[in-house]
Amino acid sequence: MLGCVSRLRRLVRLVRHLPLQTSLLLLFLFCTVSVFVSAYFLYGAKQELEHSGGGVAGGEVASAVYDDLRVSPSRLLPLRAVSGGPGGEGGVRTDPVVLVFVESQYSQLGQDIVAILESGRFRYRTEISPGKGDMPTLTDKEHGRFTLVIYENILKYVNLDAWNRELLDKYCVEYGVGIIGFFKANENSLLSAQLKGFPLFLHSNLGLKDCTVNSKSPLLFITRSGQPLPGPLPGDDWTVFQSNHSTYEPVLLAKTQSAESVPSLGTMVALLPSVVQDLGLHDGIQRVLFGNNLNFWLHKLVFVDAVGFLTGKRLSLSLERHLLVDIDDIFVGKEGTRMKVDDVKALLETQRELRNHVPNFTFNLGYSGKFFHAGKTDGSLWYETHTSTHTSMYTLHRFLWDCINKSKQYTYCFYNLRTYTALFIKQTFFSPFRLFILPLLLSCSVPVLPLHTSHPLTFSPLIHLPSCPGSDEEDLGDDLLLSYVKEFWWFPHMWSHMQPHLFHNQSVLAEQMLLNKRFAMEHGIPTNMGYAVAPHHSGVYPVHLQLYDAWKKVWGIRVTSTEEYPHLKPARFRRGFIHSGVSVLPRQTCGLFTHTIFYKEYPGSPNELDKLINGGELFLTVLLNPISIFMTHLSNYGNDRLGLYTFKSLVAFLQTWTNLRLQTLPPIQLAQRYFSLFPNERDPLWQDPCEDKRHKDIWSKEKTCDRFPKLLVIGPQKTGSTALYLFLGMHPDLTSNYPNKETFEEIQFFNGHNYHRGIDWYMEYFPLPSNTSSDYYFEKSANYFDSEVAAERAAALLPKSKIITILINPADRAYSWYQHQRAHDDPVALKYSFHDVIVATHDAPVRLRVLQNRCLVPGWYAIHLERWLNHYHSSQVLVLDGQQLKTEPASVMDRIQKFLGLVNTVNYHRILAFDPNKGFWCQLLEGGKTKCLGKSKGRRYPDMDPEVRVVICQCKLFTDICSL
Ligand SMILES: [Zn+2]
Repeated sequence: MLGCVSRLRRLVRLVRHLPLQTSLLLLFLFCTVSVFVSAYFLYGAKQELEHSGGGVAGGEVASAVYDDLRVSPSRLLPLRAVSGGPGGEGGVRTDPVVLVFVESQYSQLGQDIVAILESGRFRYRTEISPGKGDMPTLTDKEHGRFTLVIYENILKYVNLDAWNRELLDKYCVEYGVGIIGFFKANENSLLSAQLKGFPLFLHSNLGLKDCTVNSKSPLLFITRSGQPLPGPLPGDDWTVFQSNHSTYEPVLLAKTQSAESVPSLGTMVALLPSVVQDLGLHDGIQRVLFGNNLNFWLHKLVFVDAVGFLTGKRLSLSLERHLLVDIDDIFVGKEGTRMKVDDVKALLETQRELRNHVPNFTFNLGYSGKFFHAGKTDGSLWYETHTSTHTSMYTLHRFLWDCINKSKQYTYCFYNLRTYTALFIKQTFFSPFRLFILPLLLSCSVPVLPLHTSHPLTFSPLIHLPSCPGSDEEDLGDDLLLSYVKEFWWFPHMWSHMQPHLFHNQSVLAEQMLLNKRFAMEHGIPTNMGYAVAPHHSGVYPVHLQLYDAWKKVWGIRVTSTEEYPHLKPARFRRGFIHSGVSVLPRQTCGLFTHTIFYKEYPGSPNELDKLINGGELFLTVLLNPISIFMTHLSNYGNDRLGLYTFKSLVAFLQTWTNLRLQTLPPIQLAQRYFSLFPNERDPLWQDPCEDKRHKDIWSKEKTCDRFPKLLVIGPQKTGSTALYLFLGMHPDLTSNYPNKETFEEIQFFNGHNYHRGIDWYMEYFPLPSNTSSDYYFEKSANYFDSEVAAERAAALLPKSKIITILINPADRAYSWYQHQRAHDDPVALKYSFHDVIVATHDAPVRLRVLQNRCLVPGWYAIHLERWLNHYHSSQVLVLDGQQLKTEPASVMDRIQKFLGLVNTVNYHRILAFDPNKGFWCQLLEGGKTKCLGKSKGRRYPDMDPEVRVVICQCKLFTDICSL
């Protein structure tokens, strides 16, 4: 109590407006009483909570994540780029695209098929199977558009009308294209029937058991044949295939659950094929037929092999799989979930065991040094407290209450509260709550400090305290872990597990990192792995450049990982990117969360975890991703050691059923491998951080999506976009970007290298939004129009923005560009006539052809417009007639105001005036003067030679249709 009193004195000095004696007396009284009362009360509460066995809920999160493969919408038409895979042998006469006939947009099997193709990064196109006819166009000139055909329902193929069937079969024979089909029996299916037109009999609605892989099947690649899989197959609606024709080779075989179920087969047949391969000996077409859907995990594996086999390995993954297992928050965990000595020994032992199957396998441990020996902090609480604002008594009250509820022990809750003590004192001095809590804080050696800053977070690292007594056993675990420091890989995870996006100041972040680095060096933890992970993915994506900079400065970080790019779900679309010298790799979920610590309490049932491993989501992740980085947490390695169980079981399962070669690499080499496999993922595609709630939550609060433009004027050049830019700027509701000195005022973000500077850079070109809602930012960059990449990038970042393009006769545009180059003393334009430029052939000098390109290519309006319309709805795009803009700008501006839906309408007839000297419309100033564009605009030059116009037309430089 002596300490208590001295601290009270210090406290009292802080608050001079209360009479000293009163406050002393009051506090002392409460100090004494509250300690006993609350200790009694809280101890009682703790006991109660323990009895109720209150496991912390994590179930919703877990089950939601596993659903990825199933809940995704069926995707019609998007062709996803092939990024990995071998493929591309010379002389291949088909595009590496799969044609998938689905039953409907929402049919389950169709979605399962598509999900696997997407996970493998294979391109595909879905079509709703027609009842009878109507094939999509299969060839393009002499080229096949598809390399494989998949039927969700093989009967749709069998029952095609003769014309279309012949068309498809002929295509398959001619281009060597195979067919995969599924036969899903229903209650109307005949028990036994011949497949129409094939020497093949089907026996349906069977229950099967004891499946084996036929080791002689030629399509096996990843699938390993070996011992049978004992037990029943899921469902009792199986179909088996029977044939005497040598074209059919079984792939999977199984027994019927009861001998009498197929009387026609007799009891002699022990094993029946449930998946058969048609070797093409019957009609020249290779097929693989499945006697059920993809619900059975082995079907998924065989399906992947079937796709690879039938496409001659063009759509196939190699056998190499890289695994990296991160164990995050190695010191952060609430008491009772951390590793004890035996757990640490088991971790090392399992690592040794795993190395027999995965050479050099090493657990990658992430640490926040602040929690070493004293990390009695529940991770989720920590996040919660860091993300909310601690400016009210209510927050503190709730924090404490939640903490006690969840952790069942109050000492560490107060321990946590230490950080906020200063704020606490200032804000809630007079509250009874404070008077109740404060003595407890004091009795737990919590120092009471004056408030230096209104920001509680920057305050936290300043406080170093003797820790409240915790579990010695767990502290010994920490010690043992550090004595094995050389056995593991390590990565920094911030000193106090705070979220980087909350810090706008790079040096504060760097300070935090330095604390962690100092900790690492004191404990011999290697600091040169070049890999780091941000708490809660914060700052990695959406990019918080301050984090990247501090990482590089303090640690030399070159690799990180996240689940958030482009989005958490669906998991199969997670990708990597490189920004500012840091490789960001996609991270996978393994089904273990901070709160899954007991096998028996696994969300759903323990069976659910085993399902994930034995052919479920986790197995599929490794099957379909050449590189998998898994994130687990400390708590998965104490208690039931679910982390060890999961990865040992996973590796054993993979080795039993696949030929995959499992390996590992340290993060930097892993990143190199990743981007050599998927080079087209290097460039990021920035998205609107406000379109994804998770992204918005981990985006700096100092940034706002209101700072993005809502209108893009995309050009092309020489059609009047600068005049339009001037006119738009005259509207009180519209605000243009600040000029960019490098690029003649335009920002030129979406088309070129500026894009790699990131969205923060882009936002800097727009003012901080005021509070009025009429802020409407716009920018004009005239070469967005014909850029190959601008439309996709703009739509990703500004999905709701409006797009304006201005078109004039492309021949005039080309000529104007040519004259523009002459006026800028371009030597090529000065040397050659316009006629020379437009008729230059492929053997002309390169510089001439470059000029020709800049004259002609932007004028291929249809191609460029189509690209913009692929990414923006037509109601968002306004195409203006540049000629009309020149002659009657005011009426064009009326149209634009309507298109933009502006609050205020401006009468441009009153504020624009024709300047006869300039020859174009200008801004009318007070006193009748005009403000016009500079000399470089509206330049006069000789008219185009009419004969050249004829040449342009005859050579069909812009269009097949001529209008002179
Ligand atoms: Zn963490």
